[in-house]
Amino acid sequence: MAEILHRVTLAAQDDFEGWREAARALVMHGVPPESVVWQVAGEGGDLFSAVAAMPLPPVGGDGGFNVPRGFIDIARTAIAHRDPERFALLHALLGRIRDWPGALADRADPLVRRVETMARQVRRDMHKMHAFLRFREIAEPDGAVRFVAWFEPDHHIARMNAGFFVRRFATMRWSILTPEVTLHWDGASLCEGPAAQRADAPAGDPVEQVWRTYYASIFNPARLKIGAMLKEMPKKYWKNMPETALVPELIAGAQAREAGMIRTAAKPQQGHDRKAALAALAEEARGCTRCDLHRHATQTVFGEGPANARLMIVGEQPGDQEDLAGRPFVGPAGQLFDRAMADAGLDRGSVYVTNAVKHFKFVPRGKRRLHQSPNGGEIKACRWWYEQERLVLRPRLTLAMGATAARQMFGKIVTISAARGRAHRLEDGGEGWVTVHPSFLLRVQDEADRREEYARFVEDLVQVKERLTALD
Ligand code: SF4
Repeated sequence: MAEILHRVTLAAQDDFEGWREAARALVMHGVPPESVVWQVAGEGGDLFSAVAAMPLPPVGGDGGFNVPRGFIDIARTAIAHRDPERFALLHALLGRIRDWPGALADRADPLVRRVETMARQVRRDMHKMHAFLRFREIAEPDGAVRFVAWFEPDHHIARMNAGFFVRRFATMRWSILTPEVTLHWDGASLCEGPAAQRADAPAGDPVEQVWRTYYASIFNPARLKIGAMLKEMPKKYWKNMPETALVPELIAGAQAREAGMIRTAAKPQQGHDRKAALAALAEEARGCTRCDLHRHATQTVFGEGPANARLMIVGEQPGDQEDLAGRPFVGPAGQLFDRAMADAGLDRGSVYVTNAVKHFKFVPRGKRRLHQSPNGGEIKACRWWYEQERLVLRPRLTLAMGATAARQMFGKIVTISAARGRAHRLEDGGEGWVTVHPSFLLRVQDEADRREEYARFVEDLVQVKERLTALD
């Protein structure tokens, strides 16, 4: 066993800044993870007090090396995982990144995958807390009302989640009690108290009216998926959820409400409204769990482009590089797409580009992640986002690139060769065009064939451009 040389005591289980400062110092001084004991102040005693420990070496300035933003984000989240090894694992990963800044892109690396899994589990736990925490009402000594909730997170997420509840319930006085920390909001400032027990929270029913009103206001009939709702909602939370009583009523009104939503969305919107609506959609899609693809991908890759774009271009799904960058069409196929757009005289900056499916589907092979086409269920699940994008953008013309995009656009399977080169009337009144996906061009082996296919692809883009001009 390696001799313990350094002991680091963090202020709390989620003390990211403390970890960051210490880990930088350790990496800078070449201290390997196996020579460090990480502790949290006040927890479990000083197990290693008998072990000789050297003071942590100081590091000045910025710590001597640049850390990619992606690592900071993932480490800030993973630090809240309950796995006691997380501090050492992140230390090891930071060391690797110092030697090779692209280390985080090596998705086949077991260390990268483990840290990513931890971050994903933490995000999921945060999402559960947003969804399943329930307040009870109590009277304060001054006669005011305070809402108190008990919640047992799986990970150390309570502090990380405080901002969400401050924003959501800014005007209420509330307290959230957890076995690790208590959070108290008085309408103006947030403060923290010691750990609590379930018995500290008021007994009785949750505040039915508050939650029923809130739930009814956020209930989105177009997303109604009862099976998924029940699957998503762990049984331990059911009894705390008065809004479950609302479900039959909401379902009954869902159709009418959906029609209302569509009418509202169909009204002409101002540019800034559309921009805000797209931003809100993208934000909501970050937490999407409508199909299993979110489980292994790094992040949702939503569409991007001007909110008043007249042309919407749809691809299949994010690839390996898009998954890492969080932006569509930035990998090899995206670069070819950019070249073809320029050759066709189309400005990518004026076009809204998106994918039929917003998460990367792949199978790991050694150090690589091999692309897999999404299946019918995944395409259908992601149709919700595609339709929402269309409702906001109301594009004059839509170009589907490849079979998956065409299936999303038409709502059924179509053959590219049969649908290519002509306009199609879409259900929402827009006009649809079809071409191949640029990744198809990359797969053509023979160079002459590839040149020919590329020229056809550019021709399709030119046709779309001319049609767009004709529709002016
Ligand atoms: S692929 Fe689409 S439907 Fe599936 S989880 Fe991702 S965003 Fe949601």
